[in-house]
Amino acid sequence: MSKFIFVTGGVVSGLGKGITAASLGRLLKCRGLKIASQKLDPYMNVDPGTMSPFQHGEVFVTEDGAETDLDLGHYERFIDENLTKYSNLTSGRVYWNVLNKERNGDYLGQTVQIIPHVTNEIKDFILKNAEVSGCDVSIVEIGGTIGDIESQPFLEAIRQLSLEVGRRNCLFIHVCLVPYISGSDEFKSKPTQHSVKELMAVGIHPDIIVARCDKEIPADIRKKISLFCNVSEDCVINNTTCKSLYEVPLMLHAQNMDDVVCRDLGLEKPTDYRALADWSQMVETIHGRQGEIQIALVGKYVKLHDSYLSIVESLNHASFVIGKNVKIKWVDSDSVTDESAGSIFSDCSGIILPGGFGQRGIEGMIAACRYARTHNIPYFGICLGMQISVIEFARDVLGLKNANSREFDELCENPVIDLMKDQEGVILGGTMRLGSYPCKVTDGTIMKRAYGSDLIEERHRHRYEFNNDYREQMSAAGLVISGKSPDDKIVETVELPQGEGKGKHKFFIGVQFHPEFKSRPNNAGKLFVEFLKASAL
Ligand code: GLN
Repeated sequence: MSKFIFVTGGVVSGLGKGITAASLGRLLKCRGLKIASQKLDPYMNVDPGTMSPFQHGEVFVTEDGAETDLDLGHYERFIDENLTKYSNLTSGRVYWNVLNKERNGDYLGQTVQIIPHVTNEIKDFILKNAEVSGCDVSIVEIGGTIGDIESQPFLEAIRQLSLEVGRRNCLFIHVCLVPYISGSDEFKSKPTQHSVKELMAVGIHPDIIVARCDKEIPADIRKKISLFCNVSEDCVINNTTCKSLYEVPLMLHAQNMDDVVCRDLGLEKPTDYRALADWSQMVETIHGRQGEIQIALVGKYVKLHDSYLSIVESLNHASFVIGKNVKIKWVDSDSVTDESAGSIFSDCSGIILPGGFGQRGIEGMIAACRYARTHNIPYFGICLGMQISVIEFARDVLGLKNANSREFDELCENPVIDLMKDQEGVILGGTMRLGSYPCKVTDGTIMKRAYGSDLIEERHRHRYEFNNDYREQMSAAGLVISGKSPDDKIVETVELPQGEGKGKHKFFIGVQFHPEFKSRPNNAGKLFVEFLKASAL
């Protein structure tokens, strides 16, 4: 049977609960345990798929095509296990399921209530994820902050579950902010005390308190937290701001957090020090990077950096491989024009154009792509970034001045990017090509060199595609189709021949998929590595 670790947050949101949960997952994996992760989000959207990136950051896509919370990306990157549609549950989904059952008559005339019907739905989902993953330990993070009205059914559900599976099989970790007041040089434990009190009011007593602070919290304050919150002294763990996120597992391990967790859960699994050494080695590589290159990230959601979290992390992973730091220049696509591009990109070694939806900022993206192509600056277009490169090529190389995507111009005369036939007429929400799909790679291309394989798989999240009516024209004009679906029907990647001379480019590629979702700190996404290598030249 699986054991369960529930991670809650106190005092403020955005504390790094996800990183704490993911780091603990990595440490337990280093003990040979099979880990599953799950995030329970109290908001009412059925999934984050239709939410603006400004609201909630990036939507992370799993292999099986679920659109999920960005914390799942952290779990995958730290624990290196592919997650599934059972890894993310929102209040919206819970109520949706309960109401469908009610309409179906499944409750046999009972009054449908938060307890037990909503809480049962939540518990079933937690148990289901543990069951389908076959894990030893399931780490379940509850979104939001203790005290929120909307998270109450989730807290009630985990309280009930701990009783059902036995207290010995469950562990509650509460991640709290400990403010530091610089004027008086004091660390304050009171908010943590209050937050624990709130948690206890719903019947949950934390076993471990992870105290989050920019600085290391001194022993006397941790002792105070232990005394006032009624947890053992070795169960108050410092979570200090680190230079790199990937240091966090080592920081937690240095305080014996994984020992404490295993002890309390009755798991006798010693650390495999070779596995942990691999992680430490990676962190050393991170610290050993020398020099810096600046990459422009051009998008419409750049005000909230979390909107591009997996791309940023993938660039970091690739920077570990090339041994140079990467600095991102955040460029709002609305600010780019043919006139401004020169000054915006003059200090950038490469331009990356990530995914996006809707018309705003499109012409700026096209201008950025045009600048990269005509000034021989490495260009990496992802999803929308690939579609932009096709539009730009059609307009400027083929001379189809009105080329566009059907997404931005319904009556477009040259829709070089268009809806896939079997997707016409579909409505927003759950209607996209989602999840992992195979892609056949053409010999002698950047794709082939990067992946070193004839067939690869990457994850998708989009509605529109390269319009096959323009395949011949584009190819004849020098755009290389370097990746296609195995049945040749869908163009997945386009590039310019690499090299020097007319029609050639240092590095220019557009991919319809999202390689950022599969990049790992110890196994960087191949195209990100090639892109940075070319940019560092
Ligand atoms: N808006 C485009 C589409 O739906 C691109 C999507 C994306 O970049 N993820 O096809």
